[in-house]
Amino acid sequence: MQILLLLTIILALLPTFPIGLVTDGRWSVVCTAATVAALFLVAWMAGKLFAHLWNRTWYLRGLRCYRLVRAGLFVGVVLVEFISLILLSWGYVVRRVWGLGTWILLDEILLLSPLMLSLVAVWWGLYPAEKILHDSLRRRDSTPFWSRTGYVIFQARTHSAILILPMLLYVTVQEMGSQLDSALMEQFRQWLPFYYFTGISVLAVLVVLLILPWMLVRIWQTESLPQGELRDLLESTARRLGFRYTDFRVWHTQNNIANALVTGILPWPRYVVFSDSLLQALSSYELVAVLGHEIGHVRRWHLPLYVGLCMLAAVSGVQLLSLRWPGLEPYLVALLYRLPSDLADWRQWLHLAFSMTVLWGYIWLIFGYVSRHCEREADVYGCLAASCGNAQCSDHRENRSLAKSGDSLCPTGIRIFISALEKVADINGLPRTQWSWRHGSIARRIAYLEKLQRRVAQGCRWPRWLWLPSWTTLILLALSVGGLSYLGISVF
Ligand SMILES: [Zn+2]
Ligand SMILES: [Zn+2]
Repeated sequence: MQILLLLTIILALLPTFPIGLVTDGRWSVVCTAATVAALFLVAWMAGKLFAHLWNRTWYLRGLRCYRLVRAGLFVGVVLVEFISLILLSWGYVVRRVWGLGTWILLDEILLLSPLMLSLVAVWWGLYPAEKILHDSLRRRDSTPFWSRTGYVIFQARTHSAILILPMLLYVTVQEMGSQLDSALMEQFRQWLPFYYFTGISVLAVLVVLLILPWMLVRIWQTESLPQGELRDLLESTARRLGFRYTDFRVWHTQNNIANALVTGILPWPRYVVFSDSLLQALSSYELVAVLGHEIGHVRRWHLPLYVGLCMLAAVSGVQLLSLRWPGLEPYLVALLYRLPSDLADWRQWLHLAFSMTVLWGYIWLIFGYVSRHCEREADVYGCLAASCGNAQCSDHRENRSLAKSGDSLCPTGIRIFISALEKVADINGLPRTQWSWRHGSIARRIAYLEKLQRRVAQGCRWPRWLWLPSWTTLILLALSVGGLSYLGISVF
């Protein structure tokens, strides 16, 4: 879902748009608003219908059907954005009729407004059903669910921090870069346009990577983890495993989300975020194991791996696509550097959107495969964080000192991590066998760790070669990109 939204945002920020069915500015506004309103009506009816259904029966009949409807509504959000931009000429009106193309940010916000408004409409409409769903899944939990406005604001904050704001930041830096009009810059732009625009784009990516962690902990409602026993324990774990970070944060979600994450490729700013319900439900040593999992991602270079992988997969995907459809590159270059192009015809635009979808599928497959292997590696790191280094230990009752980085695993450490995984699944109402694109299923993760537990008892200190599938994929991609470029299929 997130990637589909991201793709939509990228396409929505294109510099040039075709003229659709409506050519008048006012009519474009009216029709766009009507499309958003129609989606709102559907979401509102779905929310009311399921709330009514679940209110009268004590069990959640048609839960699967509800999840399908909800997914369908989010696809509807994407459709509304495309219909407005292309058929209803919203993109053309904003950029050309109103001539806002040279404004920094104003045009982008207007271009994305159908998307943002329909997201709000769907959250607002589905609220009654979401509330009942929450109440019946967590009968033991006494924290009340959000109010309707509170719910919409929470969702908007969560999504804008990871999707919309990074994109807007990227675009702003890029626009400011290409509007520099000193004589020197002008000369450079004339002389080496490729390096000029690549330089600006790379700079924009770096700015986003640097600011994103800092922005995320502020837009999400987080605060520093208070001083105390738990913080001391987590700090000593970080020291023990040689991990540098800026702060540990608590994410306030009214106990609705059980999750932890690490943000930041560079050691600064880098935050480890724990959600409130995770902190409440897990024991302190289970939290040490969760922190170990996040440290594993950093220590095993997963974040740079993901960035490199996405870039290489995108380039290789474009190469493969242009084998099939020659003449695609200029549009993709225009997309990446946001240069004006001759995408005046809506058929070309549709073609580009279709190619982007194929590209998305390609990246989805590769990234998912690598991500699931990286999660396994991080899981083992989580076990290490809670291990004492004695492969024969049966429990950690007498205060043992825990393992250092490079030490070996112990069966108790693995058991602690498994129990943390099980609790996270329970709080999130996640069936053990439900497969997730980035993590695989909880059941398979646990099955692997139980096997590892037996191997550790037989004397295995650390499972080797866990990194092999991910890094091999990266190298194979790099080789294929190099090979195809050598054969003359270069992207730029
Ligand atoms: Zn992870
Ligand atoms: Zn132990």
